[in-house]
Amino acid sequence: MPAYHPLSVEEAIELAKSISGHFSADSDLSCREIGDGNLNLVFHVTDKHSDKSIIIKQAVPYAKVVGESWPLSLDRARIERQALQIQHKLCPDLVPEVYAYSDEMAYTVMEDLSRFTIMRKGLIEGGVYPNFAQHIGRFMANTLFYTSDLGMNQQEKKVLAGQFVNPDLCKITEDLIFEDPYRDSPNNNYSDAIADEAKALRNDTQLHFEVALLRDKFLTRGQALLHGDLHTGSIFVTPDSTMVIDPEFAYYGPMGFDIGAVIANLLLNYASQPGWSEDETILSGRQQRLLNMCTDVWKHFENNFRQLWDKDLQDEMSRTPGYQDHYIAEVLRDAAGFAGCKMIRRIVGLSHVADIEGIKNDEIREASQRKSLAIGKALVRHHRSISSAEQLIQLVQQTV
Ligand code: ADP
Ligand code: MG
Ligand code: MG
Ligand code: MG
Repeated sequence: MPAYHPLSVEEAIELAKSISGHFSADSDLSCREIGDGNLNLVFHVTDKHSDKSIIIKQAVPYAKVVGESWPLSLDRARIERQALQIQHKLCPDLVPEVYAYSDEMAYTVMEDLSRFTIMRKGLIEGGVYPNFAQHIGRFMANTLFYTSDLGMNQQEKKVLAGQFVNPDLCKITEDLIFEDPYRDSPNNNYSDAIADEAKALRNDTQLHFEVALLRDKFLTRGQALLHGDLHTGSIFVTPDSTMVIDPEFAYYGPMGFDIGAVIANLLLNYASQPGWSEDETILSGRQQRLLNMCTDVWKHFENNFRQLWDKDLQDEMSRTPGYQDHYIAEVLRDAAGFAGCKMIRRIVGLSHVADIEGIKNDEIREASQRKSLAIGKALVRHHRSISSAEQLIQLVQQTV
């Protein structure tokens, strides 16, 4: 086995050639590193004389954070690769296929999805994705149900959960989502224009109480194998198809965390729309569409999840009348609360979203930031009393 080192472009080409069934021995390959993140290399290898191509994603042993380097376990590449394989098996049409991997070299070779658009970019450009809610609802229902004690043997589930202990990446979430936005942390990142909001977040002990409850769920509720980073930058779309990538934060956690991530990112785009819509009619149309998508995401998740429960439940006790309703109601409350936390951190925390940051006009950007914070705080504050997706959307619409 070769010792770990970051691949060069030349090595990526040699690796691509060695993967059977993709390129012929005499193919003329070119390669570009296209990663946008601070954590990984992404090589796009294409054949100059055919339409064949692949992606090689390789982890590097550090994260670049505010100019500094955090050491970060390479084991996350193994975790991402295994999560992709499990998710692909459960939803072959919604997750890229893994062609090859090396845990020692921390790389995964997978299907090239360059024909798709990253959903965050698509939404910013006003893209319409009529099948997205149905697809992501089914992705979450299948991946969460079949990795939980409901959908798999409970002893086997414990063994599987042991393979997804992901302390380094969980720490990033624990710090950046559940701690820093509420403290005077050097990781925080916001403009002076909203310093009043950031200060209010630090002093709001009632809000901290709700965040502490959600953080406890993130730390202790090993309900299912989560994607762990299911924002619109981890989703590729076309008008009729959807593909989920980048599960390096996968671990056993509360189901609502993934669902909340999707809803939060739709709502961040909703709050950013005044910066992207040319006129009032387009603006209100897009906003309504985004709110409908949030309710549809939940509904498709719920319908699929109930169907799986009725079809493939693994134990008798979970058939107790009322238990399914109780279980799903908790997932919705969690999803609402986690969505709120995720919105807040994207405004005052370390890592922002292009939907909001990309707005050129200072006043509109600031208004979108304040709107996102207002929605995020309302969701966190009230998450424990939310009992329907409609109620969640009402809360969003009531914020000013
Ligand atoms: P990171 O964990 O560093 O965020 P991602 O898995 O999100 O890495 O990939 C970063 C970028 O690389 C994506 O936004 C996309 O542009 C490109 N990319 C990653 N995987 C693929 C793929 N399977 N097909 C095409 N492009 C990809
Ligand atoms: Mg990235
Ligand atoms: Mg990513
Ligand atoms: Mg990632």
